[in-house]
Amino acid sequence: MTIAALLRRTTDHALKYLASLDDRLIAPTASLAELRAAFVKPLPETGIPADQVIDALVNDVETGLLGSTSGRFFGWVIGGSLPAALAADWLTTIWDQNAAIYACGPAEAVVEEVCGQWLKQLLGIPASASFALVTGCQMAHATALAAARHKLLADRGWDVETNGLAGSTPLRVLTSERRHESLIRAVKFLGIGEAAIELVGCEADGQMRMTDLAATLQNAADTPTIVCLQAGDIHTGGFDPFPEACDIAHSHSAWVHIDGAFGLWVASSDRLRHLLSGAEQADSWVTDGHKWLNVPFDSGFAFVAHPAAHRAAMSQSASYLISVGDARDQLDWTPEWSRRGRGFPAYAAIKSLGRTGIAQLVEQCCDHAHRLVTEISTLPGAELVITPKINQGLVRFLSPDGDHDRRTDRIIEGIQAKGIAWFGGTTWQNKRVMRVSVCNWRTTDGDVDRAITSVRKILAEIS
Ligand SMILES: *Cc1c(COP(=O)(O)O)cnc(C)c1O
Repeated sequence: MTIAALLRRTTDHALKYLASLDDRLIAPTASLAELRAAFVKPLPETGIPADQVIDALVNDVETGLLGSTSGRFFGWVIGGSLPAALAADWLTTIWDQNAAIYACGPAEAVVEEVCGQWLKQLLGIPASASFALVTGCQMAHATALAAARHKLLADRGWDVETNGLAGSTPLRVLTSERRHESLIRAVKFLGIGEAAIELVGCEADGQMRMTDLAATLQNAADTPTIVCLQAGDIHTGGFDPFPEACDIAHSHSAWVHIDGAFGLWVASSDRLRHLLSGAEQADSWVTDGHKWLNVPFDSGFAFVAHPAAHRAAMSQSASYLISVGDARDQLDWTPEWSRRGRGFPAYAAIKSLGRTGIAQLVEQCCDHAHRLVTEISTLPGAELVITPKINQGLVRFLSPDGDHDRRTDRIIEGIQAKGIAWFGGTTWQNKRVMRVSVCNWRTTDGDVDRAITSVRKILAEIS
């Protein structure tokens, strides 16, 4: 089979999958044992034709796919793929550029420059900030915090890239219970160590308590400190008080890092932008393209207000690299060497929606989340826990026997098993709750109706 015929056949498979999204069950139906039975085979000694490989792959994955691209998937924080981004992602694979340096993929390098400028404008980040397109927020944290580590120690006369951390002043990381666990992992990667993280107290509404932040900074005034704030936490979608936190942190020469994996996107919306007021004063920001921008995985962005520190933390020269004029070589800013040309899909997503389209996507997801949470909460035995301020909210289900945690988990399992909609469970303030997260351009009012109807049925069925 020619490549052309193979790709046409693959397109047919792809279109068939997309067409099935509206009706297929969202939860996978295959068990782990069934999936292993389908895939686990002896290492093939000889190959088979590509079309047979693809046909078998499509057949074998069918019952093991989670329908997370469906408009009725409300688990974790998972975006869909915008048509333009999806198509650009296919082409990225075809072009197969190594986006390490300009010389290896000139168009991709320039597209990344444009993405960086556009993203800063969209997200309300100062134009002077440096940026990196990385795999996701996890690596964006690692990139931005490496810059923080560099600058805080360089300001104290210590060159961490040359000398490592042994012998330097220990760093400290202040955050709150709202932080995402990927932040902890980045702190581990960087050798700062989890024990260096101190939790600052929160107000009743979950915002970091500013008197505690000030007191904690005061406690060890000479310790180089990174303050990590949340722009949209995964349970409540809440935002920390950025103007006050930045003022307090900066008055102690601390570095302010903002995790806005999805929350930073409210900057595009006139209605919601106020939630980010003051965020522009931070020293670094991270967000995802594969969540609210609806770019296929993997797509994350790091921004740093101190480009020299960012570059010092990442850059590495090698005798065989080629630099061209004032071109931007991505490996001066990213933690990877060889890498996918992930600028193309992000560029296509932004170009296809424009600022107003992105604002509309964000607002529409928030409206859907609000309706899901408030309407599910009115169903018999349901209780409202958190009304979404943006696209995240919480509900739980009450049991006559008082074991609300068990009832909540059973209802969530029931909804997942039914396959019409998908919500995840989590523990929030020591209670089991069902999390509602809307992040996909595909979700329609009709999807919200179908999801609520499904929850109503499950509540009646499971006693
Ligand atoms: C998803 C998420 C992360 C981690 O991002 P990845 O893209 O999965 O690496 C970090 N912080 C928050 C708030 C998130 O929602």
